[in-house]
Amino acid sequence: MAKKVEMAKKQDMPKESKYVYSFGAGTAEGHADMKELLGGKGANLAEMANLGIPVPPGFTITTEVCTLFFGNKGKYPPGVKDEVEAALRKVESTMGTTFGDPEDPLLVSCRSGARRSMPGMMETVLNIGLTSKTIPGMIAKTGDERFVYDAYRRLIMMYSDVVMEKAAGVEPAGERGIRLQLEEELEAAKHRKGVHLDVELGAEDWKALVEVFKAKVKEVLGKPFPDDAMEQLWGAIGAVFRSWNGKRAVSYRRIEGIPDDWGTAVNVQAMVFGNMGDDSATGVAFTRNPATGENIFYGEWLVNAQGEDVVAGIRTPNPLNRDCKTPDTRHMASLDEAMPKIYKDLDRIRTRLEKHYRDMQDIEFTIEHHRLWMLQTRTGKRNGAAAVRMAVDMAQEKLISKEEALLRVSPAQIDEFLHPMVDPTAEKKATALAKGLPAGPGGAAGRVVFTADDAEAWAKRGESVILVRNETSPEDVHGMHAAAAILTAKGGMTSHAALVARGWGKCCIVGCGSLNIRAASKRVDVKGITLSEGDWITLNGTKGVVYQGQIPLLTADPKKNKWYKQLMTWADQIRRLGVWTNADRPIDAQTAREFGAEGIGLCRTEHMFFDPARIRAVREMIVAETVEARRTALAKLLPFQRDDFMGILEAMKGLPVTIRLLDPPLHEFVTLDGAQTVELAGDLGVPVEKLQARIQQLHELNPMLGHRGCRLGIAYPEITEMQARAIFEAAAELLKRRVKALPEVMIPLVGQPSEFTHQEDIIRRVATEVAKEKKVKIKYHVGTMIEVPRAALVADKIAERAEFFSFGTNDLTQMTFGFSRDDVGGFLPEYLQKKILPRDPFESLDQVGVGSLVAMAVQRGRSARPDLKIGICGEHGGDPESVEFCHRVGLDYVSCSPFRVPIARLAAAQAAARDAIKAKAAGKAAAGSAVKAKAKARTVSTV
Ligand code: PEP
Ligand code: MG
Repeated sequence: MAKKVEMAKKQDMPKESKYVYSFGAGTAEGHADMKELLGGKGANLAEMANLGIPVPPGFTITTEVCTLFFGNKGKYPPGVKDEVEAALRKVESTMGTTFGDPEDPLLVSCRSGARRSMPGMMETVLNIGLTSKTIPGMIAKTGDERFVYDAYRRLIMMYSDVVMEKAAGVEPAGERGIRLQLEEELEAAKHRKGVHLDVELGAEDWKALVEVFKAKVKEVLGKPFPDDAMEQLWGAIGAVFRSWNGKRAVSYRRIEGIPDDWGTAVNVQAMVFGNMGDDSATGVAFTRNPATGENIFYGEWLVNAQGEDVVAGIRTPNPLNRDCKTPDTRHMASLDEAMPKIYKDLDRIRTRLEKHYRDMQDIEFTIEHHRLWMLQTRTGKRNGAAAVRMAVDMAQEKLISKEEALLRVSPAQIDEFLHPMVDPTAEKKATALAKGLPAGPGGAAGRVVFTADDAEAWAKRGESVILVRNETSPEDVHGMHAAAAILTAKGGMTSHAALVARGWGKCCIVGCGSLNIRAASKRVDVKGITLSEGDWITLNGTKGVVYQGQIPLLTADPKKNKWYKQLMTWADQIRRLGVWTNADRPIDAQTAREFGAEGIGLCRTEHMFFDPARIRAVREMIVAETVEARRTALAKLLPFQRDDFMGILEAMKGLPVTIRLLDPPLHEFVTLDGAQTVELAGDLGVPVEKLQARIQQLHELNPMLGHRGCRLGIAYPEITEMQARAIFEAAAELLKRRVKALPEVMIPLVGQPSEFTHQEDIIRRVATEVAKEKKVKIKYHVGTMIEVPRAALVADKIAERAEFFSFGTNDLTQMTFGFSRDDVGGFLPEYLQKKILPRDPFESLDQVGVGSLVAMAVQRGRSARPDLKIGICGEHGGDPESVEFCHRVGLDYVSCSPFRVPIARLAAAQAAARDAIKAKAAGKAAAGSAVKAKAKARTVSTV
């Protein structure tokens, strides 16, 4: 039967390779660093065998075979068959049994194993080798007929499902697959016997049932269940390879970004049985607690069971040891109580594996007749709190270096500390309604409201609400603030909703295109469901997923966590990049200071203008027809602005505060409906028509490329004068009170040096005037944003006068790609799905394109002014990969929203840690070659 295995012709295959790697009996042909070829499972089985840890002997067929198999219409490369057979002989000789032998048969398992773990996404077949010929031998050997027929029926169930149906591409009629039909037969048999549990069936029952199973397989799939051990083996190998392209595996790869061409390896291994009686057992364990990080051996086990029984959750597993007993499991026997000697061995292996891998391991083991076998070890998954604690503990135990500890915690895991998170266990069971862009992190559950006023009113009554809108505008800010989260159908990662929510650390999803919002009737349709005002939804803002209903949230408190504090102290010691914050209000500045911000990299002054107390004066200024009238309106704004700046400068206590002059197009302040226009005209004492004409005049087809940024200050220098005066008067006032203040005035949207100098002259003149009037010496700097591509190109010329640069990578991305940052939501999902772009460039810096402009501007800017201070204040300043880029190109600091400050601190530290590790390795290599050279010199001299 085995001759059916299809081999490709030699000339069709690219090269001769070794396709099969054996392991077992204290040695292996592979090792842990061969994950690409052997998959994670195979590489770690080899490593454990090399360490002398007891693993059932077996072999791994490489991922290369998988790729060649798919590239050759399901044919194996020549040589595989011989190598598999040779490796099988080795397993037989280690076990002292023979595959397919009627007297003393060897049984094997066949499991997938990709480079990166894809839990439950591919297939497994167990008990391969049970046939009518080998069953009697197996019964004689085990003396347990019931066990053997139970094993046989498990094989028939798995094999017919995995090999004969799924891998063969058989579409089950009426979605009733073979496994389901066999399970129904099993239930019917139990029913006939009047029992409920599998364990209540005896040998005769199982024996009768396997005949029923075989008949059913033939009837449903039109083929008999194979009764040849070798045919079973090759059937299983092919099916496991094919499961790489199964539906589940393909969608998992899409989500996790695992490339299709990696392929899976196949591991064939001697079966060991945890279900051979009360001296047998099986279990899973973690070398430390994966939920808390505590250094205790943590796990579960089941006596007389197979591995799948632990995972399937049919029986409640016992606690591994006394340390991991809970009130619910207190009465159950732990392994250290039930099998103390085996537990001791397992604990020794635990220590050994952790020392060897220098990380927490997730292990599987089986005990067969009091003999311990390790089936798997891999680096264990953990949550944020556990990751931080383990990293710090391991560094303090000297298992890893501090640099490694920093690299062990992902920025997303740090984020878990700073926001409530959707409970991952409950999330798995929840119904996802829609997916959008993950604009604001963390989780939130609340009732749907459709207007900012409703959000505010409901929140006042103590309701948790989620504001659902097509998009938001500055007028919605009060409702956005009151809401637990914000959800928009339109907009990208730098849309108004995203910027504001991120600034507050608020959960937010934008660009959720599948929402059909009917604001007038206060309803939203999504996925065939209609949600009305007041219905509960939950957002996972970290992933961008919207769920129906209310999912519980989990919170962590960073201030109370000593491991977190320690890790962040190490982060601050090693990082080279400064971490500043984008904050517009003293309260945000304060929050950011508590998170470790070392300055303000961007204070957007326009956000202060929307306050109801000021917006009237702003509008008066906008509609003013003469310079005098404009100055009068601006004079009303001056005290407000001065107070704003005093607040924010004071909160930062002498740390640099970068205040950007007015940036947005003026029409943003006068988006009014008919009634509001009439009201404003009345307020301002101007005819309605006149006001309408002015608003019309301000209308621009392309406002993002229109009259904004420094173009405003050039057209209306009195605006710049007022803002500069407010800044310097605030600083002067504080200095008089002996409070340190260090303002840095930033000119936005500069594209040519003359724009800069025009504005700079005004700022410096006002600074001198204020210093004279107030009789204080004010220390300040004047710099610019680099956010127009032309500014990057002429950075050397701009740096002749500018004392600092701050990359406004939101606009720089917009203008370099030519993508409107407000409209990108319309096409970006398509771009990402079709892989036109690997990531949203407004979220993570496009290092190749926009990054080149950044690198060039750094180099040109510093060529003109070597001490030029350079930072970034676009949204990328809080994105870990972009932070690493900023480190590499030599920026002085990154600036991000307050809640992302800890993430940026860690990301900056990780960039420095990677450098340190590389330097150490290079140092070692250099030292190594020096030693070698010395040795060589000695050899030479003694010759
Ligand atoms: C930028 O463009 O990157 C920036 C920080 O400014 P804004 O987002 O306010 O345009
Ligand atoms: Mg900008």
